[in-house]
Amino acid sequence: MHNPPHSKAGYIELYIGVTLTLKDILLKAGTLIVGDGTTLSGASILINGDSISEVGQDVSIPSDTDVLDFSDRVVMPGLIDPHIHVCFDGSADPGEARQFSDELLAIRGSQLVEKLLQYGITTAGDAAGRGNVPFAVKDAIEKGLVNGPCLLLCGRMITITGGREALGGSNEANGVDDVRRAVREEIGRGVHFIKLAATGAISSKHTESMSAQFDQDELQAAADETRKVGKMSHAHAYGDVGIRNTILAGVDVLVHGHPLNKENLELMKKHGTMYMPTVVTYYESQLHHDDGDLPEYMVRKEKEIFPLIEEGVKNAVKAGIDLVVGTDSGMPYTYYGKSTPEEMELFVRLGGASEMDAIIAGTKNAARALKIDSRVGTIEPGKSADLLVLAPGKNPLEDITVLQDKESISRVILRGKTVIEH
Ligand SMILES: [Zn+2]
Repeated sequence: MHNPPHSKAGYIELYIGVTLTLKDILLKAGTLIVGDGTTLSGASILINGDSISEVGQDVSIPSDTDVLDFSDRVVMPGLIDPHIHVCFDGSADPGEARQFSDELLAIRGSQLVEKLLQYGITTAGDAAGRGNVPFAVKDAIEKGLVNGPCLLLCGRMITITGGREALGGSNEANGVDDVRRAVREEIGRGVHFIKLAATGAISSKHTESMSAQFDQDELQAAADETRKVGKMSHAHAYGDVGIRNTILAGVDVLVHGHPLNKENLELMKKHGTMYMPTVVTYYESQLHHDDGDLPEYMVRKEKEIFPLIEEGVKNAVKAGIDLVVGTDSGMPYTYYGKSTPEEMELFVRLGGASEMDAIIAGTKNAARALKIDSRVGTIEPGKSADLLVLAPGKNPLEDITVLQDKESISRVILRGKTVIEH
C-alpha cells in the first residue's frame, strides 16, 4: 500500500493496484448547526470520501466536485444515542427476552437498529446485552447486511452477584480485584465503553432500584481500570447512596441518577461527571401503568421514582452539568428511533434546557460520553461526514420536536454516503 503524498482521503486502492479517486461532495447549507453550540449561515461542507475536509462560508471548490445545494435548509450533525439495548424491543416485560435464543435476539436486534437511522441517529451505543448478541448486530451492520448506524458496545453489564436477573448474562464480580477482572474481561472482548450497575434496577424483579450494590471502592477500581485503556465508564444508579458512590468513584457518566439531590449535584460539578437521565423511558412507560401489561414490580418501582425525576433534571440544567442524550431504547414502551428526539424534547420541556443545549446533549456530549468526540459529534474538518439535512422550513432550534417526525429529515448521511432519504 502506498499513500500518495498530499492526497486527501477518498482513494480506494484496488488489489490490482489501480487507484480510483472518489469525487468530493460540496454540501451547501442554509443554516449549519455545528454541534458545539454555534451556527453558521450560508456555509458549505466539503466531503472527501467518508470525512469532512472543509467547513466554512468560503470553501474553495475543487474541480470535478458534486454539489448538493441545500442552501434553503438546516444541516446538523447526525444524532448519537449511547444508550440502547439491541436485546430488547420495547415490549412491556423485558424478562420475556430470556425465552429467546441469542440467534433470534440478534436477528431481531438487526431489524431494530435500522429504525435508528430513519430518525437520524448515526451512532448508537449498546449499553449492555447478552452474550455475543450486540457484537453480532454490529458485525451485521459493518458487513452491510443491515442498514444501521455506527454501533459501539459495552458488552455485558458488570454487576454484583445477584445484582440483576432480567437482563441475563451479566458479568458478575465481587470485591475490588474481581471487578478489575470483569472490566479487563469486557475490554478483552473489544468493547468501547464499560457499563456498571451501581444499584438495583427497575427491570430486575429481585432488587430494589435504590439499594446500593457495588461499594465505592469497587466502582473506583472499575473506573480506574477503564480509564487506563482510554475508555469511558458509565454507571446505572438510583438513590442517594448509589449515586454518591458513583460520583465519588470517578465514574465518567451517571446513568439514570434519580433522585438527584443537591449534595450529589454539587459533587457532580466538582468531579465533572456527565449526566444521562434517560427521561423518556419513564415518561413513555408511566403512560401504560394502568394497562396491566407491565410487571407489577416495575410499576411499583417506577411510581416511586417518577415524581422525583423532574426536579433533578431541572437542577442539573441550571447547574450547567453536561447532559447526555440516552434513551434506554428497548426498555418497555421505549421504541427505537423516535425516543431519541423525544429525550431531547424532554430536556427542553421538562428540564428547561435550550434547544441548542438539547442538540449538544445529543451530538457533542453524547460523543464525549463514548470518547469518540475526535471523530463525530460536531461538523468540523477531519470528522466523519455524519450529517442530517432537514426538510425545508424545519429547524430544531426553533422547535425541537421537528426531529420526532422522520419526514422532517430529508437525508441522513453516514460516513459521506446518503443512507436514508425521505
Ligand atoms: Zn439501560
